[in-house]
Amino acid sequence: MPDVVSQPRLLLRRLHGLMAGGGAAEDRLGQVVRLIAQNMVAEVCSIYLVRAGGVLELFATEGLKAEAVHRTRMQFGEGLVGLVAERALPLNISEAPQHPRFSYRPETGEDLYHSFLGVPIMRTGRVAGVLVVQNVTPRRYQSEEVEALQTIAMVIAELVGSTELVDPEELSEDALATGAPVTLDGMKLVEGVALGNAVFHVPQVKITRTVADDIDAERVRLEDAIAQMRLQLEEMIEHPDLAHGGEHREVLETYRMFAYDQGWQDKMRDAVSSGLTADAAVNRVQLDTRARMMKIRDPYLRERASDFDDLAGRLIRIIQGASEEDDRKLKEDSILIARSVGPAELMDYDRRLLKGIVLEEGSATSHMTIVARAMGVPVLGRVSGLLEHVEPGELVVVDTESQHVFVRPGEDVVETYRQAIRDRARLLAEYEAERTLSAETLDGTSVTLLMNAGLTADLASLDATGAEGIGLFRTEFQFMVASTLPKVEEQTRIYSAALDAARERPVVFRTLDIGGDKQVPFLPRDEEENPAMGWRAIRVALDRPALLRYQLRALLYAAAGRTLHVMFPMIAEVAEFRACRKILQKEIERLDGLGKEPPARVFVGCMLEVPSLAWQLDALLKEVDFLSIGTNDLMQFFFACDRSSPRLAGRYDLLAPSVLTFLRGVVASCNAANVPVTLCGEMGGRPLEAMALVGLGLRRISTSPTSIGPVKRMIRTLNLDELRVFLDARLDSTDHSIRDSLIHFARDHGIKI
Ligand code: PEP
Ligand code: MG
Repeated sequence: MPDVVSQPRLLLRRLHGLMAGGGAAEDRLGQVVRLIAQNMVAEVCSIYLVRAGGVLELFATEGLKAEAVHRTRMQFGEGLVGLVAERALPLNISEAPQHPRFSYRPETGEDLYHSFLGVPIMRTGRVAGVLVVQNVTPRRYQSEEVEALQTIAMVIAELVGSTELVDPEELSEDALATGAPVTLDGMKLVEGVALGNAVFHVPQVKITRTVADDIDAERVRLEDAIAQMRLQLEEMIEHPDLAHGGEHREVLETYRMFAYDQGWQDKMRDAVSSGLTADAAVNRVQLDTRARMMKIRDPYLRERASDFDDLAGRLIRIIQGASEEDDRKLKEDSILIARSVGPAELMDYDRRLLKGIVLEEGSATSHMTIVARAMGVPVLGRVSGLLEHVEPGELVVVDTESQHVFVRPGEDVVETYRQAIRDRARLLAEYEAERTLSAETLDGTSVTLLMNAGLTADLASLDATGAEGIGLFRTEFQFMVASTLPKVEEQTRIYSAALDAARERPVVFRTLDIGGDKQVPFLPRDEEENPAMGWRAIRVALDRPALLRYQLRALLYAAAGRTLHVMFPMIAEVAEFRACRKILQKEIERLDGLGKEPPARVFVGCMLEVPSLAWQLDALLKEVDFLSIGTNDLMQFFFACDRSSPRLAGRYDLLAPSVLTFLRGVVASCNAANVPVTLCGEMGGRPLEAMALVGLGLRRISTSPTSIGPVKRMIRTLNLDELRVFLDARLDSTDHSIRDSLIHFARDHGIKI
C-alpha cells in the first residue's frame, strides 16, 4: 500500500514542512511533485496551474520531460487535464491514451503512461490548477489513493495561494481584460428575466490552513461545529414561516436526515485523524462526496450532491466563525452565481433582494429549483464556464426565455432588458388591479379562469390573480421533494391547506403523475426508452394500488365536510377510469365503515391526455363528472412529438387546423353531454391560443398564475360571434397553422393578445 494511504499524516507534515521552508516557490513545487510521486508510487506527478485567459500551464513535473515545464499549456476542457479542470472533479482512468479526450503532447513524452489520476486544485471555489499522477502499468487507482491526492491538492492550493507562483494580479487583470461582454448558454429551470449584480454564493471554501498543529483540538472544533449545525437546522425547521408545512419543510427534513448521516461524519472524523484541520477535513470529504455523487446516473440522487455541499458549507462557516449574515449579504438587485446552491441555503437569502440565480449545475427536479420557483426567482442552470467568466459585482442579465445569461452586457442589452423588466412589472401591477374584473367577452359570454398549482407556496396567488379556483393541483411535486413516501397524515395536511386557501372555490386534485420524467426517490425505476409513454401516472397507480389508495384516503380526510374534486391523469381507455373509480369507491366505503366524516360532495373526473380516449368519449362522458384536457401531453402524442425536445420545439403548431378541429369536437361532445370541460395545458395560458379555444366553444381554462391576467384581458376585448364565423371558415384548411391569420384577426378587431 502506498505510504500516502498508510501514513497520510506523515506525508502531510512533510509537505507542509516543504512549503513552509525557504527557497524559490518553483523549487519547492519541484520538491513537492517528487515527494508525491514517491509516496504515491507513481512514475509521474505533475502540477498544472491556471494562468491568464483560463490556460492551464505545466508548472512542475516528476517523470515528464523537464523541457515541457512552462511549455505545455492547454485550455479548460482540452485534453484530460483540461477535462479535470472543466468538471472540477477527479478523473481516474486506466487507459489514458484511449480516452476520447486524450490529447497527445509530444514534448512531454507522456504516451508511455497508461493510468492517469487527476484531481482539481481548488481555491475559493474555483479551479486554480490540476494535480496529476500517472503510471506505466494500466490500473485504476484505489479510492483511498484518490482521496489522498485530493487532500494533497488542498495543501498545494494553500501553497499556490501564499506564494508568487502565479501573480494574482495576472488573474485579476485577466478578469478585467475580459471586460468584453460575454453571452453564455444555459437551461431554463425557473422562468423569468432579471438584471442585477453578481453575488457569489461560495464564500465558504477559503481554507487557509490545511495541516493540523493539534489534532485533538481539531477534533473538538469539528464535533462542536456538527452540533451547532444541527441546532441551526432544527431552528430553521421550527421557524414560524414553515410551521404550516409544505415543500420547504419537507426539503429541510430530508436535509436534516443528511445532517445526521453517520457515514458522512465518520469520514470527516477520519480526515481529521489523518492530519487535516477541521475545516480542511470537511472540505476534503465534500470534494470526495461530490465526485462520487456526480458519477450516479440517477438525476435525483445526483442532485442531492448540492444538499451535501450546502451542509459542508455551513459546517465550514461555523468552524471558521463566519456569521451567516456576513456571507449572505445581498445588495439591491442581486443575481446569485454558483456552481450549485442548496435549498436551505437559498431560503437564507432575502427574497426581496434576490432577483435571479445562475448556476453551473442544477436540474429541473432539484429541491433548489422547486424552492426557487416557490420564491418566484428565475433560475438559469447548466451554464458551463460560468464561474470563470463572471466576477463579483459585475452586471449580469438573466433571460430564461432565450436561455442566455449576459455577463457585462453592452448598454443596448442593458437598456432593452431594463425596459422589459419595467414593462413586466407595470403589466403585473395592472393585471393585479384587474383581478376583480369578470372574464366576460364583449357579447356577454363568461369564461371561467382557474389556476394551476403544485406547491403550497402557489396558493397565495389564488387571491392575487382573482382565479375562480384551482383547476389543476399537481400533487406529485410534494412526492418529488420527499425522500420517503409521504405519509397519509402528511398528504392530508397539504391537501387540507390547499382547500383552506381556496375557501369556497373548487380545487381539482390530480392524483400522482409520477414515473417517466417525474421521478420520485422511493419507487423502483427502469431506464425507459420513452419515459413520457412509459410507466407513469395512472399506469403506476394501477400496478401499485396502495400508492393510489393512500393518496385518495388523504384526499378524503382533507375534504371532510367539504367538496372534493379528484381527477386521474393519463387515462387511455374507459376501463382504466373505471378501475380508478372503483378504488376511490372502496376508500369512500372504508371511510364510512370507520364512521369518519366524508366529504360533502365528491366529483370525479379524468384528464384527456392520451388520444385513444377521444374514441371512447361518449362512453366516458356518461361516467365522469368533469373532463380536463391536458394539451401538454395530448399534443405530444397527437403529433408524436416529444414535448421536451428543444429540437422539435417549433416543429408543429397548436394552432394547426387539425388540432383545433380535434379540440372543437371534444368540447362539443362535452357541452352536449353537459359535462364541464376545462383545458389545463400551457396552451390555454397564451392569449392567442386561448382566443381560438374560446372561439371553439371552450368556457373553462386553468393556467399558471401569471397567465390569468393576460388571458382575462384578451377575453374582455373579444367579440365571440365574429370569431366563430372566422374560425369556421378556416378549420377545413390544410395549412400548417392558422396562427398568422388569427393574429391579423385579433389586431383588426382590437383584441388584446
Ligand atoms: C398536460 O399534460 O397538459 C398537463 C396539464 O399535465 P402535466 O403538464 O403536469 O403533464
Ligand atoms: Mg400531463
